[in-house]
Amino acid sequence: MTARKPRVLVVEDEEAIAQGLVLNLERKDYDVSLATDGAQALKMTAEEDFDLILLDVRLPEVDGFEVCRQLRERSDFTPILMLTARSQPDDIVYGLKVGADDYVIKPFDLAELLARIEVRLRRQSWKTSGEESSEGDHPTLPTRVEFGEFWVDFSTFQALTREGIVELSRKEIAVMRVFLSRANQVITRRELLTQVWELPNHPNTRVVDNVIVALRKSFEENSWRPKHIHSVRGVGYRFTP
Ligand code: CA
Repeated sequence: MTARKPRVLVVEDEEAIAQGLVLNLERKDYDVSLATDGAQALKMTAEEDFDLILLDVRLPEVDGFEVCRQLRERSDFTPILMLTARSQPDDIVYGLKVGADDYVIKPFDLAELLARIEVRLRRQSWKTSGEESSEGDHPTLPTRVEFGEFWVDFSTFQALTREGIVELSRKEIAVMRVFLSRANQVITRRELLTQVWELPNHPNTRVVDNVIVALRKSFEENSWRPKHIHSVRGVGYRFTP
């Protein structure tokens, strides 16, 4: 499987630390972006999908806690590794409380930080690539699956859509994986939340709606009269190839 490079966003205002992180992450063959303040981080995450965010707590303007809180509030569950200062133990508790997944204490040991990032990314790619399917949630799909006039390629994340060949987001790919492996069956929103977002009890199902809207834009001539991605009122969806 030719996986694409993991995308990492570094949010750090101290130039020396930021440059060091970017350099070392690029050496690990990650696709690295840098935001030097919280507002910029919020803007970049709204425009692009990242696989991991390395987020410094002490930032000018909007601090790391607020960035984290706002991301979770808009249903962005990208894993966040917070960089917190040793002198501020409360930061750790607060960071986890507002939705960070893990933290690393500054000054950090670079090798350890890189290892933690790697573990996090590996976990994330299992989640989105479906390689974890030993549980048998859905049967194994071929790498490329065709339906109607379209296709989706699960190894490159590319799809032939109404707009030609485009790269789908990780969530879109994960939802398509569920749809294509369970064609013609009713799939509840809760099932999608569980399998794609791992959030069975999350009250906010708008995350599902957003991905469905995007997928319909890609694969439906007329979103109001879908041929493939049908709504099952009050329940969820049914995909017909
Ligand atoms: Ca800082």
